Amino acid sequence: MTKDLLPIPQAFCQECRLCCRFLEPDRLTPFSSRPELRPILPEGFRGKTDPDLTLVRVDEIDLWQCTLLDESSWSCSSWPNHPFDCRIYPLVLILREGSPWLGVDTNCPFSLHIHRDSLQEKALSIKDTDWKNLTDTVKSTLIAHLGKEFTDGVLPILSLEG
Ligand code: SF4
Ligand code: SF4
Repeated sequence: MTKDLLPIPQAFCQECRLCCRFLEPDRLTPFSSRPELRPILPEGFRGKTDPDLTLVRVDEIDLWQCTLLDESSWSCSSWPNHPFDCRIYPLVLILREGSPWLGVDTNCPFSLHIHRDSLQEKALSIKDTDWKNLTDTVKSTLIAHLGKEFTDGVLPILSLEG
């Protein structure tokens, strides 16, 4: 299992939390928060505690907020044992022309501070360990879900096939 990635200063995230609130419950949310995916995920993809989502209203907008977000400290209450896809963020799994890829979500303000070589290196590590070790059934289930993900602002950086 790829170790914690791309250390982002906690203070930076506490000012942001963009990746812990979502416009829709099944897009860019942690895989382990989705009831249909949770049971098939291998242990390494789930965090110590499974997140759920709760609807909150912020500036007149309805958002799905992760229940592991501690509102008093504005930090992740499950860190550093949070779900795999949270740990690799701003790297995200996406579908590109029907194939799974890793991309970097430039909507994360810190993504601009991470060197491209570092992102590429981490993406390779994820491909060679985490992705490679998934069963074909889990891969195909995840791929079916990736078709719904938002990809605006996501730059593809590595194909997970081949
Ligand atoms: S979007 Fe990026 S900077 Fe913002 S909380 Fe998430 S990881 Fe941190
Ligand atoms: S598990 Fe933690 S990092 Fe992931 S969405 Fe929830 S609060 Fe954010």
